[in-house]
Amino acid sequence: MRLCNIAGRLNTFVDGKAVDVAAASDNRFSPDPQRMFDDWQALVDWGASINARGSGDVDLGQVEAPVPRPGQVFAIGLNYRAHAEEGVFTVPEEPTVFTKWPSCIVGPSHDVELPVDTDWEIELVVAISRRAYRVAASDAMSYVAGYTIGQDLSDRVLQRKGPAPQWSLGKSRYGYGPTGPWLVTLDEFDNPHDLAIHDSLAGETLQSSRTSMLIFDVPFLIEYLSNLCPLLPGDIIFTGTPEGVGYARKPPRFLHPGDVLTSTIEGIGDLVTRLV
Ligand code: ZN
Repeated sequence: MRLCNIAGRLNTFVDGKAVDVAAASDNRFSPDPQRMFDDWQALVDWGASINARGSGDVDLGQVEAPVPRPGQVFAIGLNYRAHAEEGVFTVPEEPTVFTKWPSCIVGPSHDVELPVDTDWEIELVVAISRRAYRVAASDAMSYVAGYTIGQDLSDRVLQRKGPAPQWSLGKSRYGYGPTGPWLVTLDEFDNPHDLAIHDSLAGETLQSSRTSMLIFDVPFLIEYLSNLCPLLPGDIIFTGTPEGVGYARKPPRFLHPGDVLTSTIEGIGDLVTRLV
C-alpha cells in the first residue's frame, strides 16, 4: 500500500488511480495524512480490503510530504562506511544521531530555496507506526509503517560552526528535508533490507549504493533509539547517506538554483526536488 499526501489529503492507489482515503472509507479514516497513524493497523487492513497496491499518476505540483508533521525526526550520520571514509570522519562504532527540526520537512511540490551553498544526501526514511520503547531488533520491523525517500540537505558551514559543532540546525533550513513522493508499506518490497539507492542531477549520477550497505541497519537503529527514548507514531528516521556527497569532492560541489535533484530508491520511486 502507498500513502500519498495530495494537497493535504491522504490518498492511496488502486489499479493505478489515486483514491481519497477519507471519502472512500466513509470517513472511517481522517483526511489528514499525519493522522494515518491514529489507527494504523485498521488502515492497512482497509487498504488490503480495497486492493490498494502500487502507485499511479499524480500531479507532483500537488504532492506534499507523506508524513508532514512528524513529532520527532531522527537522523543518522556516517551510516555508510564509504561515506564516513570520504569525509574527515572515522567509521563510527555506534550511531551518530542528530535531528532535522520537523518544520524543515516538505514534499515534492515545495521548491527549495537555497540561500547558501547546499549539499545533497539521499537517504532511506523510515516511518514509525506505533509507540516503540525498549524494542528488540528482532521485533523492530513490526513498528515500521513504511519507507519513503528523503534528502538530508545540508548547509555545511552552519553544520560545523562553533567550538562544539551541532549538526541539526545546518540541516534544518526551511525546505531542507524533502521527502516523498509517498510512504510505501513493507509488504511491497521483495527485500526491504536491500534496496538500490541513488540520486542524480540532469542525468548525472551523484550517489549510488544499496541500503544493505548501512553500517547500522533499520532494526538496529530502532532498538538503539528506542532504548534511549520512546519512538512515537508518525516519527521518522533519516537512516544516513551513501558516498558521493558534494563537500568531499575535489573541488567541493554544491547544488545551485535551477537544479532539479532526482532521488530514487528501488521499490519506492523518484523524489523530484526543484532548487530555486
Ligand atoms: Zn544525512
